[in-house]
Amino acid sequence: MTVHGRDYEAALDVATKHAKDWLASVGERPVPARADIGAVLGALDGPLPGGGKAPQDVVDELAAAVEPGLLAIGSGRFFGWVMGGTLPASLAADVLVSAWGQNAGMRTPTPGVAAVEETAARWLLEALHLPRTADVGFPTGGTTANFVGLAAGRQAVLERAGWDVTTCGLIGAPPVHVLAGDERHDSVDLALRYLGLGLPRTVAVDDQGALRADALAAALDQVPSDEPVLVALQAGNLHSGAFDPFGPAIAAAHAHGGWVHVDGAFGLWAAASPALAHLTDGVADADSWATDAHKTLNVGYDCGIAVVRDPRAVRAALGAHAAAYLFDAPGAANPYEKVPEMSRRARGVPVWAALRQLGRSGVADLVGGLAANARAIASGLADIDGVEVLNDVVYTQVVFAVGDDDRTHAVGAAILADGDTWISGSVWHGRAVLRVSVSNWSTDAADVARTLAAVRRAVDATA
Ligand SMILES: *Cc1c(COP(=O)(O)O)cnc(C)c1O
Repeated sequence: MTVHGRDYEAALDVATKHAKDWLASVGERPVPARADIGAVLGALDGPLPGGGKAPQDVVDELAAAVEPGLLAIGSGRFFGWVMGGTLPASLAADVLVSAWGQNAGMRTPTPGVAAVEETAARWLLEALHLPRTADVGFPTGGTTANFVGLAAGRQAVLERAGWDVTTCGLIGAPPVHVLAGDERHDSVDLALRYLGLGLPRTVAVDDQGALRADALAAALDQVPSDEPVLVALQAGNLHSGAFDPFGPAIAAAHAHGGWVHVDGAFGLWAAASPALAHLTDGVADADSWATDAHKTLNVGYDCGIAVVRDPRAVRAALGAHAAAYLFDAPGAANPYEKVPEMSRRARGVPVWAALRQLGRSGVADLVGGLAANARAIASGLADIDGVEVLNDVVYTQVVFAVGDDDRTHAVGAAILADGDTWISGSVWHGRAVLRVSVSNWSTDAADVARTLAAVRRAVDATA
């Protein structure tokens, strides 16, 4: 059958209309979903239909069923977890990625998107001040980016110990000593689990959750000098936004011949802002870095960024070495050799579009603006009777509590019931807290004011 553009046209037109309606509503609508999952499942109930339906009607049916169950993550008043919105150029580029339908795992047969991803990679290294010769892969998120960096590290430190983990596996391998701060992100543990390395040895942190360099040095002193060492550091503590002391920590790990991986899912972007870059001092001396495009950069889900200083290490760890049917890419690596996936979406293309929309100064303004909004929210919160801001607000994260745990829980519930803003709850240093993560490009002064008013209402309602 000949496929014509018009076979897609009606469905795409309907999808574009629903997309625009949704986006137009996001600025003003309540942030939480109107319907719960039971209601959406109810709307989708029934067996697989016996017959088909016209594509545009499928899109209509989908949008009608799902819309009540959508959380307005793209709202300027959404501060849950650490989740960014989507820049317009990035969203539109993502639509093209779907239409183009490229399997972007190989470089030679799909040169269009491969070239865009390689350009995005080059720009990322420039924006984040990382070594220009490092390899950049685009996996699904921070978790898989942590996996990539730690996989390359496992490969390299075992190779230095005379062990080829690619061929021999871990059984019988020299022990790998893995060290990480007490307030690392869970995804570091997940990545280590995928790699068969188990839980890391925990290194003490300071009152903001940043790893203590003296504690790391003491832990490293316990490791026999010829044994493999992996150290996972963090740029951006989930709660406080704190950054590990990269200079001394990396120097100590390197003195032991260790590999240093940095989980910078949202924090690595501080390097792109002249006003915040001091937070990442020394980070470029690490061996691998993980970050997300779908958080601070405001690229849509899903997109992580995995950067490895030594391209040989990542290709040895993740490349397929015997697949003769794949295209070799002399000189440059294939995209699939830098991520866990073989077939893959060209998810680096929306990254290119975000960087092209913003430019270098726009990236700096975006990151600086998120931090400025966080400071404004923190100072507004501190003015509300009974609210205690618990962290040093150095970046995009604000942690606060209202009286005891019960009151804090009640305020959190009241905020979500109110719906004008979204702030998620957590536990930090044994205490129930509410956590504001400023990650959306569109948050403006009016959103900050509305958010503070919503918190004040919730505090008053629970007094
Ligand atoms: C979000 C986050 C991750 C995990 O990233 P995903 O994109 O959700 O896989 C890892 N580390 C930190 C610090 C994060 O904030």
